[in-house]
Amino acid sequence: MPNHEFECSKCIPERKLHAVLKGPGEDLTSALPLGYLSTIPGSISERGCAYCGAKHVIGTPMKDVIHISHGPIGCTYDTWQTKRYISDNDNFQLKYTFATNMKEKNVIFGAEKMLKQNIKEAFKAFPKIKRMTIYQTCASALIGDDINAVAGEVMEEMPDVDIFVCNSPGFKGPSQSGGHHTINIAWMKDKVGQVEPKITSDYVINYVGEYNIQGDQEVMVDYFKRMGIQVLSTFTGNGSYDDLRAMHRAQLNVLECARSAEYICNELRVKYGIPRLDIDGFGFEPLSGSLRKIGLFFGIEDRALKIIEEETARWKPELDWYRERLRGKKICLWPGGSKLWHWAHVIHEEMGVEVVSVYTKFGHQGDMEKGIARCEESALAIDDPNELETIEAMMKLKPDIILTGKRPGEVAKKIRVPYLNIHAYHNGPWKGYEGWVRLARDIYNAIYSPIHQLAYLDISRDEIATDKGFMTQRLASDANLSKEALSSTNMREYTGIYDNIAYLRTKTYPVFERKTAAAV
Ligand code: SF4
Repeated sequence: MPNHEFECSKCIPERKLHAVLKGPGEDLTSALPLGYLSTIPGSISERGCAYCGAKHVIGTPMKDVIHISHGPIGCTYDTWQTKRYISDNDNFQLKYTFATNMKEKNVIFGAEKMLKQNIKEAFKAFPKIKRMTIYQTCASALIGDDINAVAGEVMEEMPDVDIFVCNSPGFKGPSQSGGHHTINIAWMKDKVGQVEPKITSDYVINYVGEYNIQGDQEVMVDYFKRMGIQVLSTFTGNGSYDDLRAMHRAQLNVLECARSAEYICNELRVKYGIPRLDIDGFGFEPLSGSLRKIGLFFGIEDRALKIIEEETARWKPELDWYRERLRGKKICLWPGGSKLWHWAHVIHEEMGVEVVSVYTKFGHQGDMEKGIARCEESALAIDDPNELETIEAMMKLKPDIILTGKRPGEVAKKIRVPYLNIHAYHNGPWKGYEGWVRLARDIYNAIYSPIHQLAYLDISRDEIATDKGFMTQRLASDANLSKEALSSTNMREYTGIYDNIAYLRTKTYPVFERKTAAAV
């Protein structure tokens, strides 16, 4: 049997069905790890709750909105800064977080009055912001506060404001994935169709499942604009509340993270007949294929090909430089959900690294199926691991780096395995051609940083040898390079600038002549 039993989890025998070793020619249809089930008692999960999935992943990247949690202050923790969902309105949604801060007396006597007062106070404190989202938590759900009724009352009293309510308490579903689903459906049901947008192009899309981590959305929108495509809305990174109420007028939903946002695409297809096209902004080949697909859909493939040619010529020599130095390095690819399969093959093919383990915190079995199919043989696939299992896996696999979130990342640091935060990034954006080079550069820096030589010293006792000095990263990474690679003049290290998003925000784009009768 390919199922893998962790020594540390022998006392929880059910865990065995959640881990699989990919053997040669394995029939994975009979050996997929179980997934998207409630965490087994005794196993401490790294998952978030359904409120977290609704608010912190999908809701809060909306930029022109006051986001309030109706519950205890502790529920709001993940909002601030850890996510790095930037926006072009001076990061309003990152700077402020709001909560009604429910206490015991509110649990006993109800908190609707307090909620109404909080809503009004927040609008008063930020008079330019006229849109709000309210997130139910476990506490407000259990006492039965009617948040929708309160929001309705406020909208009647303040006609210039609009409020969206998301009833996704923490206990609604086995993980944050339950919250992704709930907020998708709620937005579709309550808000889509309320605003009529101005159409300025023959080619109009919604960009869905993209959260603008360190500017990813802005990189991708740059390509779309260069193709003459109007991005009506982004669900939800750097997205505007009212633009998202106009999603029904797009001709195509371009879907990036299927795990978190395929639900709204499917609903838009059923109700408005808008087709869905799944794309991938990570990696040269997947991104080029995605731009070509969008170009083909609209009959403007030539515009896509032009961008692919320009960007590949500019950035491929830099990707190759890192690939030569990362070749054969062992990676644990441990994301939350969809990066499992977005990255598993392309990171191997384009950066030369070996994916020795994949895991998912909240992905479904279909995510695991795609991820396992794309990763190397003998890789260890784990669903919803606990901390002891991640330590055991790291000790056994001895990876050169782990790509994961901040909770397992802290564990990795303790046992001196380099880690990159692939939820909030290190020096992103990582989407786009340049972004993929930046990711390769960040992996390179993490693996070869001299900090890891220092980490093994007890500087209160050990002297740092001054005669040898520290190996520079270049000495360490170039030691085993072939002569051809060393003498190559075609490859070079990253030459971009630290903040490559500021430039995009000032850029102007070509105006393409419109063909349709509706053109103005
Ligand atoms: S599980 Fe409930 S109480 Fe805990 S953070 Fe989530 S919503 Fe708040």
